[in-house]
Amino acid sequence: MFGKKLTLPEARALMVKNQLEGRYINDPRILEAMREIPRHLFVEEKFWDSAYDDGPLPIGHRQTISQPYIVAFMTQALQLPPNNQATVLEIGTGSGYQAAILSQVAARVYSIERIEALAKKAQQVLQDLEIDNVEIMVGDGGYGWPEHGPYDGIIVTAAAPEIPAPLTTQLKDGASLVAPIGPKRRQELFRLQRQGHTITSENLVPVAFVPLLGEHGWGE
Ligand code: SAM
Repeated sequence: MFGKKLTLPEARALMVKNQLEGRYINDPRILEAMREIPRHLFVEEKFWDSAYDDGPLPIGHRQTISQPYIVAFMTQALQLPPNNQATVLEIGTGSGYQAAILSQVAARVYSIERIEALAKKAQQVLQDLEIDNVEIMVGDGGYGWPEHGPYDGIIVTAAAPEIPAPLTTQLKDGASLVAPIGPKRRQELFRLQRQGHTITSENLVPVAFVPLLGEHGWGE
């Protein structure tokens, strides 16, 4: 039996229902953002039929757009204040999709990408979607972006052997940093929280991210 092929909006609605609501993503702002933002526009047209599948997809330059569930999970793990007034830093813009989701639950998003071509493409897609609260910089995100900090949340979307030290100094008191940490093939997603001079850390789930390169990652 072959069913009717879903339209992209239908596939997106089903993604939210099956992959997110069905897996304890329960922040209504995040579910709404994932319902609204057209993930397919962040990948090449040849991947549109798979854009709402439960996995990562290639975006060129040997990089990937993360699995929708992981994007939602990391956004929820940031525990941003409910007033949408947060300032968030993302390391690893990639396609710009995670930044687009963050743009719906934060006031400002600053995102750093080391590959200029990806940064430019992401900027264009965000502009086409009339998302104007995301600023992208080309550079090594391991140093963070102190000019706009401290942040209400920092999300690292590439895997480092350990938390890049400059990032923890750019967290507001009470804010969280979410990052995949561990060896190159498999890592654990960690959440660090700053409370005054104390940093606590929790191990959330196993993940597999592409490496964070540069001074605070795996080198060049
Ligand atoms: N958040 C992205 C998205 O929504 O499409 C997915 C990110 S992809 C898994 C990881 C990205 O991190 C790649 O685009 C890679 O070029 C970038 N990256 C790796 N090391 C970096 C660094 N030191 N600074 C900034 N970006 C880096």
